[in-house]
Amino acid sequence: MNLLELGRDILNIFRPPSDESVSEWADHYRQIVGKSAPEPGPWHTDRAPYQKEIMDSFSQRGIHDIVVMSSAQMGKTDMIMNMMGRMMHLNPGPSLLVMPAEDDVANFSKERLTPTIEATPVLNEITFGGKNSTITQVNFNGGFISMTGAMSPGGLKSRPVENLFMDEVDGYPASAGVEGDPVSLARKRTQNFAFAKRVFTSTPTIKATSRIYREFLRGTQEEWEPTCKHCGKHSKVIFDDICFTKQETAENNGVKEYEVTSARWQCPKCKEFMEEWEVKRAHAEWVAYNPKALKRGIRSFHLNAFLSPWASWTDECKKFLDSKDDPEMLKTFYNLELGIPFEYRDTTAIPDALYMRREHYNAEVPNGVLVITIGIDTQGNRLEYEVKGWGRGEESWGLEYGVLPGRADEPEVWEMVDDLLDRQWHLENGRTMRAAVTFMDAGGNYWDDVMEQCYKRRHRHIYPIKGDNKDTGPLVRHTKNTGKGQNWFQLNVYVGKRAVLHNAGITEPGPRYMHFPDDEDKGYDEQYFRGLISEQVKLVKKKGVYVEEWVKIYNRNEALDVNNYARCAFKGFKINLDACEQKLYGEKKIQKADTSGKPKKPKGLISSGIRV
Ligand SMILES: [Zn+2]
Repeated sequence: MNLLELGRDILNIFRPPSDESVSEWADHYRQIVGKSAPEPGPWHTDRAPYQKEIMDSFSQRGIHDIVVMSSAQMGKTDMIMNMMGRMMHLNPGPSLLVMPAEDDVANFSKERLTPTIEATPVLNEITFGGKNSTITQVNFNGGFISMTGAMSPGGLKSRPVENLFMDEVDGYPASAGVEGDPVSLARKRTQNFAFAKRVFTSTPTIKATSRIYREFLRGTQEEWEPTCKHCGKHSKVIFDDICFTKQETAENNGVKEYEVTSARWQCPKCKEFMEEWEVKRAHAEWVAYNPKALKRGIRSFHLNAFLSPWASWTDECKKFLDSKDDPEMLKTFYNLELGIPFEYRDTTAIPDALYMRREHYNAEVPNGVLVITIGIDTQGNRLEYEVKGWGRGEESWGLEYGVLPGRADEPEVWEMVDDLLDRQWHLENGRTMRAAVTFMDAGGNYWDDVMEQCYKRRHRHIYPIKGDNKDTGPLVRHTKNTGKGQNWFQLNVYVGKRAVLHNAGITEPGPRYMHFPDDEDKGYDEQYFRGLISEQVKLVKKKGVYVEEWVKIYNRNEALDVNNYARCAFKGFKINLDACEQKLYGEKKIQKADTSGKPKKPKGLISSGIRV
C-alpha cells in the first residue's frame, strides 16, 4: 500500500457516510435498463417493498454483514446494484464483487452494470463515461469496483477493499485454485476497514453444505411478514400455508400432470384465508428471529417466491406438483422457489421397513411390470446382479438378487451371464419376457474383459458401464469407442444413488415405489436391505470448508450399486411403455406377428423397441 492509498484509507475511516439511504438514493437516481429488465424506467422501491430494509441495511450504521438467502426472481441483482450505486456516488471506496465464474462476471458487467451506470447520470459523471473502466473493473472518483470469479485466487487476493459483494455464494467452488475457501479469502480483504460492508447473497443449495444458509444463521434471520386482514397478526408466508386446488390434465407413463386452478394463503394464526393480491398488498414488516445478531452487526434476510411481485402462486404450486416425486427436481424447487436449503431424507430406518414390507407376488413377474432390466456389479471374485421389473411412473419390482461366483476374465462366469440374459421370466397370464437392457460394471480391473464380452453379446443389449463421481450432469451418457464400435455408458453415480435412496423411502405404492418379494429364494434378505441403504452423504471439512462426501454406513454396498445400475438401464433409454403393455398384456395381434415368417423373436421378448 503506498502513502496515497494509506491516506485515502485513513480518510475513508473517518469520513461520515451520507445520510441518504440506499432505497432513497435508488428512488432518486436509479434507472432500470438492460435487455433482461422486465420493467425499464425509473426505479421504485415500492414495487417490491421487501427490498427497502435489505438495501438500507447497507447504509445502516453498525451493520457490516448483510445476508440475503433468497429464491430466484426477487430482484437480488438490482438490490446489489443499488447498494453499489449509492456507494459509488455518496460513500466511495475500494470494492470487490465476486461471482461464481468469470463468465458470470463478464455478463453482469456488460449487460447489467455498464448500461445501468450509463443510464444513471450521477454515476455516468463520476465514472468519466466509462473511459477508465474495463469489463472487470469500474473506476470512479474515490474508489473502484473490481470484479472476479470465485475460481480465481488472484482476483480474491488483490488489494484491500472496504465493500465486498459476494453474489451466489452457494455456486462457488470449495477452493479457489489451491488457495482455499473463496469466501474466507475475500473476507480477509476487508479486515483493514473499520466500516467495511460485506454483502452475501445466494439461492441456497443443500442444507448441510450451504454457505448462504450458514451465513443466514449467523445473522438476524429476518422474515417478511404480511398482516392478516382477519386477525391483524403478522406471519411469514410459507408454502405449507398455501392451499391450492388442482385439476388433472394428462397422464404420461403413469405420471399425472396437473393444472393449478386456484391458490390462497391460510393465516396460521386464525386459519382464515386471503387471496394472493391481498397478501402481496397487505402491510408487512421484517421480523427478526435472532435479534441478538444485531449487536454483532449481522442482518440476514430470507425471501421466497410467494412474496415476489414477479411470480404467481398458481405457477409456484404447479412447479411443486411437477417436481415433488423427483429428489433432484424437488431440491431445485426448494432452492429456487422456496429459497430454503434442501435436506435429503434420513435413511437410517429404511432397511428394516423395506424388509418388513416384502410382499407375495402373484407370479414371478407381478402385474404392473412392463420392462425388465439387470444391473451387474463386477467384483474380484464374483459378479453380483439384480433383476428388476419396471412399471409406469418408475414403480419397480425386485425380481431376483444373486451372486455369480468367478472372475470376469473366466469363461465359466460368462456362461452364467448368458443364462441370466436368456432367462424367460413368467407373467401371471402365462406369457414370458426377457431382460430388455443389462448394465454391467466395467470400471474395475476387468475393463477389457467386460468390454469385449459385452460387445460379443451386444445383440442381447448388455452394455458396459463406468461410474462417474461428479455430482452434476446427466444420469446416463452414451459413449462409443471409435474404431471398435463398442458402445458403453457413463453413469452419474451420485445422482443415481440419491434417486435410489429417495425412492427407497417412498411408502405409498405408486410412482417410484419399490416392491420386493417375500420369497426366500429371491435373495432379498436382511443383508440385501442393509446393502441397499449402505451409503450416506456426510459432511467433511476440507481446506476450511465443509463439502459433501459419500460414506459407507454398511460395508457391503454392492446392492446399492447394482440397484442403481439396473435403474440407469431403465432410465437411459426411451422406452415405449404403451407398446410394452400391449405386447405383454394385450390381445392376440402381437402373437400373430410372431408367425409372419420373418426371423422369429422369442415370444414376449420386448427388447425390440430399444435402440442405442
Ligand atoms: Zn389471521
